[in-house]
Amino acid sequence: MNTLLSNLREILDDRGVITNPVEAEPYLEERRGRFHGKSQIIVRPRDTTEVQAVVRTCIAQKTPLVPQGGNTGLCGGAVANADQIILSLERLKQIRAIDPANNTMTVEAGCILAELQATARDAGRFFPLSLAAEGSCQIGGNLATNAGGINVLRYGNARDQVLGLEAVMPNGELLSDLHGLRKNNTGYDLKQLLIGSEGTLGIITAATLKLYPYPDQSATALVALHDLPASIAFLERAQSGSGGTLCSFELMHRVGLDFAFKHVSGCSDPMTAPHEWYVLLSLQASGDAINVDTLLSAILEKALEVGDIHDAVIASSEQQAKSLWKLREGIVEGQRLEGASIKHDVSVPVSKVPEFIETAWATVAKRVPGIRPCPFGHVGDGNIHFNLSQPPDMDAEAFLSLWEEVNDLVHDHVAELGGSFSAEHGIGISKIDEMQTYKDPTALKVMAAIKKALDPEDLFNPGKVIPAPHADSR
Ligand SMILES: Cc1cc2nc3c(=O)[nH]c(=O)nc-3n(C[C@H](O)[C@H](O)[C@H](O)COP(=O)(O)OP(=O)(O)OC[C@H]3O[C@@H](n4cnc5c(N)ncnc54)[C@H](O)[C@@H]3O)c2cc1C
Repeated sequence: MNTLLSNLREILDDRGVITNPVEAEPYLEERRGRFHGKSQIIVRPRDTTEVQAVVRTCIAQKTPLVPQGGNTGLCGGAVANADQIILSLERLKQIRAIDPANNTMTVEAGCILAELQATARDAGRFFPLSLAAEGSCQIGGNLATNAGGINVLRYGNARDQVLGLEAVMPNGELLSDLHGLRKNNTGYDLKQLLIGSEGTLGIITAATLKLYPYPDQSATALVALHDLPASIAFLERAQSGSGGTLCSFELMHRVGLDFAFKHVSGCSDPMTAPHEWYVLLSLQASGDAINVDTLLSAILEKALEVGDIHDAVIASSEQQAKSLWKLREGIVEGQRLEGASIKHDVSVPVSKVPEFIETAWATVAKRVPGIRPCPFGHVGDGNIHFNLSQPPDMDAEAFLSLWEEVNDLVHDHVAELGGSFSAEHGIGISKIDEMQTYKDPTALKVMAAIKKALDPEDLFNPGKVIPAPHADSR
């Protein structure tokens, strides 16, 4: 480690190498506190050239490295062991180019997502990737995990926002593919191989991203559903009645809203009576050819008439829309303050969301009497955060000791319905066992072969995403 350290100090400036345990702490602790790293060296290069130099030094010393963005991933992907160094991208923050006529911007990996949304807005454009961690996650981390969020229904996942990519590969070479082309059929799409690979195949240093017209019209409503199956009928109605302007369609159960009302300041019930299931939906459009307020009113009127919904609150100002979104975001914080919780980030075909929630709910309630399921999420993408709060009278540690067992019960239901045990947060280390159990064996072999070909020494984020060979399958 001493030679490595002196080599790194030669490449980087004073702020580029952290070895002091107090300064290192924020890079070691995963946000949810489930994983804690032990790395003794954190490096913070300033640009792509320095990233490349660090990678080459690590290759020469055979030292594994773990790329880190905003450290908001919830799967332990950016956690490093004592023999691994953390390579933080936080100082690669340049906006390299913005081309409104081409609807693109080229940005470095360490740019914070919310800052990129603001950069696009300042140029009269819209960058649609949006998630609750947007104030601290970085675009490099978003691409490495193929993040989802609240606008996937209309714009797609992170991978759908990318036209070009720059990355340092595990042999130290630079993959320089930063073009803004919407048509480019020149062989394998390597950027898509790197996106979602969670730092196991390359370190993303910059990307050329797609921009869209800025949506200057927006309409938001909180709706009380007749019942859970009505969510799908209502989604269909909202999609067909919104002329392609439906961006978000978020399902919430009363349990989660009650947690938000109880624990999160500024969250209160905007309806006069409680209901069991709710949807928060948003329509957005640019220009004046379409009026999203009129569309939303017509959708809600029809849904009330046919009985899919019982009640609705339409936001009459931007401030009210923010208050409604605060309820959705308050669920996570409210659940945290309510006690221990076991979480799932799963997807099933949209048509099967109600069946999944009902069967998984019955199964976990049978296994853990008194458990409080708090499902919410992006039902328009079939993505449910099937999160479970501890029974009020159960010891938190005893409840958390059931994490793996409960995961298996839920993920078995997901698999039966043709779904995925990891919808948007990725694999990291937390879902390696599930990869072994549920992922197609041929797909696993191909992934391992690609990893071996690109990173034969297993130096890039080892132990993440791909299960170790011959790991026991359950
Ligand atoms: C409150 C909250 C809400 C969230 N909501 C959502 C949501 O709605 N949708 C969603 O998809 N996720 C969500 N997440 C999860 C998380 O924000 C995303 O996974 C995000 O994309 C991670 O970005 P990051 O910069 O924090 O990456 P990190 O956590 O730092 O890293 C994540 C992974 O990417 C790798 N990595 C990071 N940067 C690079 C790089 N430049 N090159 C190569 N590999 C890299 C790391 O090694 C690690 O494996 C949420 C998290 C929180 C805390």
